[in-house]
Amino acid sequence: MIQDKTGRELAQCLERLRLIFGSYKAAGLKDWTYRHETPRDEVQPAPACQTGEQLARINDELTGCTRCGLHRGRTNLVFGEGSAKSGLVFVGEVPGFEEDQQGRPFVGRAGKLLDKMILAIGFERQEVYICNVVKCRPPDNRTPEPNEAAACSPFLFRQIEALGPKVICALGLSAAQTLLGNRHPMFQLRGKVHLWRGIPLICTYHPAYLLRSPSQKAAAWQDLKEVIRLLRA
Ligand code: SF4
Repeated sequence: MIQDKTGRELAQCLERLRLIFGSYKAAGLKDWTYRHETPRDEVQPAPACQTGEQLARINDELTGCTRCGLHRGRTNLVFGEGSAKSGLVFVGEVPGFEEDQQGRPFVGRAGKLLDKMILAIGFERQEVYICNVVKCRPPDNRTPEPNEAAACSPFLFRQIEALGPKVICALGLSAAQTLLGNRHPMFQLRGKVHLWRGIPLICTYHPAYLLRSPSQKAAAWQDLKEVIRLLRA
């Protein structure tokens, strides 16, 4: 009798799991993982199914956003893309022309260089998550004004919390300053491990800057090596 009951419960559990996995598949979640990690101070990694739902919710909230003036020049909102599979999130500054046209982050010349940087640290582009501080392209790709960054950054912060990465890499001064909430120059921000809500954060040069100043690529590589070390820690 007891064995029958246990068997029925086991069958119910298996059926439930089958339905859950079926829903992941239907949602296009192919790389969900269950993580065993030491709890961090504040941000806890979420199972990928929850991550996908949370990101979709944040994206929905930004649909048609007019919270700052940047919406006026927008062709497409550039939310961000990728996966939390690697544990790595790159945060850039603003979408450029190509990004605005395609609605995807880092798809222009700077994006090609970022792809190479990602490959150099052993990942495919789709294995990391890439986003920007603001989701709409500023005129002439200028740095976002403080009020624009303030309007959009809460959504970035929620994105990062939903992803629960192991390491954040800030690309460029604006991203670094927004995440760290200070106005320090890049030479003070590079070369050390910061924390964003308990998550290690490395600051490095924006790929667009590296295209203009290739002599700084060696320094950026040092930053990326620190990213690798933290990911493996
Ligand atoms: Fe909204 Fe951000 Fe675009 Fe401003 S930049 S309009 S806050 S989505």
